[in-house]
Amino acid sequence: MRLVCASANPKKVAELSRLLPDWVQLMPRPETVGDIDETAPTLEGNAIIKAVEIANAAEEWAIADDTGLEVFALNGAPGVHSARFAGEKATDAENRALLLQQLNGIADRTAKFRTVVALVNSKGEMHFVTGECSGVIAESERGESGFGYDSVFIPDDANGRTFAEMSAAEKDAISHRGRALAKLPELLSRLFGLPTP
Ligand code: IMP
Repeated sequence: MRLVCASANPKKVAELSRLLPDWVQLMPRPETVGDIDETAPTLEGNAIIKAVEIANAAEEWAIADDTGLEVFALNGAPGVHSARFAGEKATDAENRALLLQQLNGIADRTAKFRTVVALVNSKGEMHFVTGECSGVIAESERGESGFGYDSVFIPDDANGRTFAEMSAAEKDAISHRGRALAKLPELLSRLFGLPTP
């Protein structure tokens, strides 16, 4: 089956392609769709906004994910604002720097990533899978791989390494997105009568 991907971030698309079963063909985001404003107050709402826009443009099933990093000492921030933490057009590096600055001197650095994946078609059918990954925010950046907050997030049960110090396969096995997408084959099988993996 085909799923049109709402994300244009090449690293995220690569992660999605790795994590989806072989029988799902991930189609690129239609070029006719411009930037989509993520104006909802929740991850669920933003995932729906993105998936609906793409499903309507492509007239096919679309998949969109929205992820937030929730830091306990910051009352759950940056959360739904993770991409814009340091400003509307902030880079990943600026967001990480602000996070480290706000946690400077704070002992409790517990945090979790939460991902909501929405599967939507142009008739308005909607389904969701979610995944979480708990950990702590590092004192400083470590590692070169991944994207976003990977170099400052140390997931539980990973020998103290940040996501950016892991191979893609190691991250996929425990990440919020990996855990959400692991639930997708069963959902797709149920919805479309495809073979159970
Ligand atoms: P979104 O899911 O594209 O809305 O991501 C929101 C923010 O979280 C962006 O700043 C991303 O770079 C960041 N982000 C999303 N997924 C991950 C991840 O797996 N690791 C690190 N940062 C992520």
